[in-house]
Amino acid sequence: MALELNQKNCLVTGGGRGIGKAIALNLAENGANVAITYSRSADAANQTAAEIEKHGVKGLALQADAVDGEKAAEVVNQISEAFGGLDILVNNAGITKDTLILRMTEEQWDDVITTNLKSVFNYSKAVLRPMMKQRGGSIINIGSVVGIGGNAGQTNYAASKAGVIGFTKSLAKEVASRNIRANVVAPGYITTDMTGELNEKQLEAINAAIPLGRPGESEEVAKAVSFLASPASSYITGAVIPVDGGMGM
Ligand code: NDP
Repeated sequence: MALELNQKNCLVTGGGRGIGKAIALNLAENGANVAITYSRSADAANQTAAEIEKHGVKGLALQADAVDGEKAAEVVNQISEAFGGLDILVNNAGITKDTLILRMTEEQWDDVITTNLKSVFNYSKAVLRPMMKQRGGSIINIGSVVGIGGNAGQTNYAASKAGVIGFTKSLAKEVASRNIRANVVAPGYITTDMTGELNEKQLEAINAAIPLGRPGESEEVAKAVSFLASPASSYITGAVIPVDGGMGM
């Protein structure tokens, strides 16, 4: 299935490494220009921008802490000018600070909620102007299976990801009349730096909880994102699409 992403202009927050990198490269492989943001990993982001350009499209890496709303507006303006518009936003930047609630500090709570949820508000708000001007757009927010089912030791993270779902459905209702769609991709257990190295016993326990019997790869999340970015999903908005090997059933 051709995804018709040729010449589309995209922004992936936290696109320098992990799932965000796979998303950025998949969009580029499908013909889209892709800008990425990073907070700390400049080398990884510049390397990813170079890999994006190998697909014959425009690539751009910008330093921007996703928590900063003013910076989000600046970044979106910069990309719109460099690319000549912005059609697709992927809110991917995210962190974990896991611990049981009795040990969780206010700082751990605030860091996770602001990085994972406020960032989604910041960038979604910033892209609406260019998207309305273009009479269309697609916003894809990266949630988590944990935002649906909860997980002990992740009250902050699960709350942020459940918040992303409520935010996305509300946004989808607000902007549908402008031909702007908003959806969530909810990954299960995906092998990245965030999930870290596992020993054999941990891996066995995780595999046992996943009907498909293995962790997912970032590229498997990226394919769902590119589908939601493209006109192939033109009648899908406000949806939460799990990419979790059946883990959330
Ligand atoms: P990684 O830790 O591998 O990568 C996180 C990315 O987010 C990095 O590019 C990082 O950039 C960026 N980032 C973090 N904080 C900020 C910030 N304040 N501003 C801008 N960018 C930031 O995580 P994953 O790739 O695994 O996760 C990506 C998304 O997928 C997250 O939203 C995560 O919650 C979600 N997810 C992941 C799952 C998994 O199993 N891995 C499962 C379900 C959801 P930098 O290094 O520059 O800080």
